[in-house]
Amino acid sequence: MSDKTLNTNFRVSLLRCQSAKQIRQKLYAALVSFSDIFPTSKDAHILIKPNLNSNMNALTGNTTDLRLLDALLSYLRDQGYGAITIGEGTSSGFHREKINIFTRLCIDKLARRFNAKLLDLNYAPYEYVEFEHGEKAAVARICKEADFFINLPKLKTHFEALLSVCLKNMMGALVGLPNKQKTHRSLFKNILNLNKFVKPHLHIIDGLIAMEGTGPSSGTPIKTDVVLIGTDPYLLDLACAKIAGFDYKEIPYLRLAEERGIINQDYLNFVEAFIPKEVIRIFKRPHVNSLVRFVNHPNWQYSFIKIRLSPLVNKLFSFKSFGRLLNAAGLRQDVFDKQDLCLKDIYFEASLCDNCKKCQAYCPVGLVLPEQLHPLHEQCIGCLYCFLVCPKKAIKIKGTLGFFKEQLKRYDNITRSIA
Ligand code: SF4
Ligand code: SF4
Repeated sequence: MSDKTLNTNFRVSLLRCQSAKQIRQKLYAALVSFSDIFPTSKDAHILIKPNLNSNMNALTGNTTDLRLLDALLSYLRDQGYGAITIGEGTSSGFHREKINIFTRLCIDKLARRFNAKLLDLNYAPYEYVEFEHGEKAAVARICKEADFFINLPKLKTHFEALLSVCLKNMMGALVGLPNKQKTHRSLFKNILNLNKFVKPHLHIIDGLIAMEGTGPSSGTPIKTDVVLIGTDPYLLDLACAKIAGFDYKEIPYLRLAEERGIINQDYLNFVEAFIPKEVIRIFKRPHVNSLVRFVNHPNWQYSFIKIRLSPLVNKLFSFKSFGRLLNAAGLRQDVFDKQDLCLKDIYFEASLCDNCKKCQAYCPVGLVLPEQLHPLHEQCIGCLYCFLVCPKKAIKIKGTLGFFKEQLKRYDNITRSIA
């Protein structure tokens, strides 16, 4: 599999990787070619903003893959950068329920390996961005003030925007629930407003296991094995639309960007020449029922949000059974199970193993698997990628599954079959 870089005014690289080792090696080489834009001072404050909008394991296609985050942190450490923050303002429901996404996705354990700080952008000091209808929304100030800002989005479908990659990932920079909700009065214009205000220096897209279908809540993972790196989020989102087999004109914020002259013919020509046919996959499109479409219609959505936040309705939403009902109707991203996963052991049954080494290809921290599951290695962060990809179900876990039970029910067979 060959990687690609075209020499034009656009700076972008496309990496094709299938294992943690390849991701680490190829990302390292690619970032060396971008080294001129990194800060010269090793004391520079670097902010990394992954997509951690829910507690869904990255292999479901929903959140940023820890293999990519680990590879990026390794590169930064090797270059001598020591002041690194991983920041995310996770989406409304998880924020409201005070669910710690950093813990659930094992970001905390990974960050500890690199001495990186974690910051919940929902509670960060802020500045205001101008939104449509004269509104102002609070954006985490660190996104403006960090010496170097790296956007680390996931490639996935989105039921309202069709695609969510670099530009949409900036929604997580908005502080807290009320500010996130302000986008919805004019979602696509506000996505552009936000990206005019907050401009990461570099974007690294996780298209390893992407999401197709009705993302982000009911999508399914699709193995795309790509990582895109570049400095222009519009170009990168166009490239991702091409990879997903979507006409960019169907993606409202890209169409709007073209109308505003941000995207021009040079962008379109470049993407046409740059994306090789072999990486193009025709993603399943989001399909939403009429109730979801009605509730999320720009004309009513803002009013529904107001009703949703009234004390009585808020109380109703706190009942688990009601949450399940909403989730089944497609109106809620998750059931927001409050019980964390409590892992006591991960082990493997040698008699079931055919030594395919998939578990090793997915281990973000580079353990020699499955051998180092006996006994469980101290470097293991408990991400369960090895467990989720083992085609023989040779890797077993002990402990309380908590919120993870629901994910297993929905995705267990899918992750094993696509990995
Ligand atoms: S993925 Fe499963 S079958 Fe393959 S090497 Fe690992 S434990 Fe064995
Ligand atoms: S051994 Fe498994 S659970 Fe542990 S870090 Fe590696 S992939 Fe994750």
